[in-house]
Amino acid sequence: MIVIMFGPPGSGKGTQSSLLKEKRGWSHLSTGDILRSEVKQQTELGLKAKAFMESGQLVPDQLVIDMLFAHMDGAEGAILDGFPRTLTQAQALEAELGKRELDYKVFSLELSQEELETRLTGRRVCSSCGTLYHLNFFPPAQEGQCDSCQSQLEQRPDDSLEVVRKRLSVYFEQTYPVKAFYEELGKLKSLDGTMDKHEIQNSIHMNIN
Ligand code: AMP
Repeated sequence: MIVIMFGPPGSGKGTQSSLLKEKRGWSHLSTGDILRSEVKQQTELGLKAKAFMESGQLVPDQLVIDMLFAHMDGAEGAILDGFPRTLTQAQALEAELGKRELDYKVFSLELSQEELETRLTGRRVCSSCGTLYHLNFFPPAQEGQCDSCQSQLEQRPDDSLEVVRKRLSVYFEQTYPVKAFYEELGKLKSLDGTMDKHEIQNSIHMNIN
């Protein structure tokens, strides 16, 4: 079973994917995380992807498609987080899942643009252990410092207001049409992204076997 977490940046796809991974033991494939790790390691792919990511644009389809399919090898159950983000990616995934005879379900997390901006620009991450914080919803005990390892908290370069607005406009132009693609296939379940994270997780659970 493949679960596709769909929704704009900041809608909680990562949180829901982590909760589901904990419960089911499936692999969590976040294309954003995989790309950030490629950039950090300065691989050929990372070097190609860096400028697109920092400016809030999408990395070219074929690079992301090849990268994801390589990570999906042998996965019987997987959660896709941040993929597909274009119709080309959705069509490539449809063909690949058909070939591998894997069933899938898509969950779409819905939130207003204003709510998304607050969520994304307030996000902070520990530079050392990667723990996530939020200035409004989950602040650290000591400003700017990680509760677990006391290292410095950072803002992801693409979480600044300017880049967040660019990412959201890219989402509505290029990614939003993917929703209709899955709706027509009868694969989409929409969820209210403002609900409590555990309530959302329960709805996801009730909709997968
Ligand atoms: P995320 O952490 O999912 O918000 O992704 C961060 C950045 O990685 C995005 O703004 C894109 O530049 C890039 N990215 C992640 N997933 C994809 C994808 N499926 N297609 C193209 N670019 C992607």
